[in-house]
Amino acid sequence: MKRLLLTGASVFDVHSGRVAAADVTVEGDRITGVGPGLDGDEAVDCAGGLLLPGFIDCHTHVCLAQTMREPFRLPRSARPLSAVPVLRTLLGLGITTVRDAWGADAGVRIAVERGWIEGPDIFLSIRQVCTTGGLGDHWGARTGPVDFFGDPSLPDPVFDGPDAARATVRRMVRAGADWIKVTATGSLVAGRGVHDVQLTDAELTALVDEAARQGRRGVMVHAHGARAAEAAARAGARSVEHGTFLDESAVAAMAEAGTWLVPTLSCSQSVPAEAPDGAAEAHPRSVRMAVEAGVPVAMGTDNPVRPHTEALREIHHLAEAGLGEAGALRAATLDAARLLGVDGDRGEIAEGKRADLVLLTGTDLRLDALNTRIRTVWHNGRRTTTA
Ligand SMILES: [Zn+2]
Repeated sequence: MKRLLLTGASVFDVHSGRVAAADVTVEGDRITGVGPGLDGDEAVDCAGGLLLPGFIDCHTHVCLAQTMREPFRLPRSARPLSAVPVLRTLLGLGITTVRDAWGADAGVRIAVERGWIEGPDIFLSIRQVCTTGGLGDHWGARTGPVDFFGDPSLPDPVFDGPDAARATVRRMVRAGADWIKVTATGSLVAGRGVHDVQLTDAELTALVDEAARQGRRGVMVHAHGARAAEAAARAGARSVEHGTFLDESAVAAMAEAGTWLVPTLSCSQSVPAEAPDGAAEAHPRSVRMAVEAGVPVAMGTDNPVRPHTEALREIHHLAEAGLGEAGALRAATLDAARLLGVDGDRGEIAEGKRADLVLLTGTDLRLDALNTRIRTVWHNGRRTTTA
């Protein structure tokens, strides 16, 4: 097999947070060596650059940027096709794995896997499930139930009661979900219900148990308020998404249960003027509190709250919220891989790991303009054409 040699780079070590000069070799889709004085069949001069593991966005929506604006006018095919430019953009930014937090269906993943379109590896949640009246329940006072996607192949996300919660998980799994995404509070955009707890403990527990029974990766719980986050942690959810208004009791429960926080600071920090209820101030405070309590944090943008071209801003926000530069980069690489359960396969520059790599211009860890520093991206050992 041909051995690719990346030579003369400064390599970021996610464990120590330090940068050291090293060569890296890649064979097929794997990193096969990291260290000084390596050789290979074909060399890429990386001098003056910083080599990072591919970024992982644990909360994005690759099919919503266009279709959210006019969901009832566009034909069904527009939704999955709208992901094509988004996925190219993300890969061009060095994002080599994503968890779609609803909107993409299994056809989008298949298109990437088969090489019909170029994009990061995708983990799917299909739809956001919820109780009646929750965020995923599209209903009009004049029309009654509204099929948001107008796509009968997508499963119904609404349930009430533990048994119905289990059935909903089974429907999502049947449609190809890797993760179960549930909304436990209202949204910042809607501006109401952010402190509610919209599920009973029995419903949350049923979702978590059924997801595990079905061999899924876990349950991700959209929760802005502290009580919903705490309930999610106690029920065994894998991650709390947003966590805008956490308190000491919530972060203690999350730390105890090992619940991850995916803050999605882009929701409140990139557009603070639009973030209601003091979210702009509360959100970074919540992240800091969580970190101090020992809650593990992984990167997720929640884009398109901001254009997908601005995805890497989230890493800067994490650094500013108390993770520091090295910590924020770890949250976007190895720690994100740990949350997704793929850290045995990716998330660091080490022998045997998947060759998902980002080469930046310049060797420093400054994060405020990461998107302007992308020089080359390798995904599964192949140099992408999008960077
Ligand atoms: Zn989201």
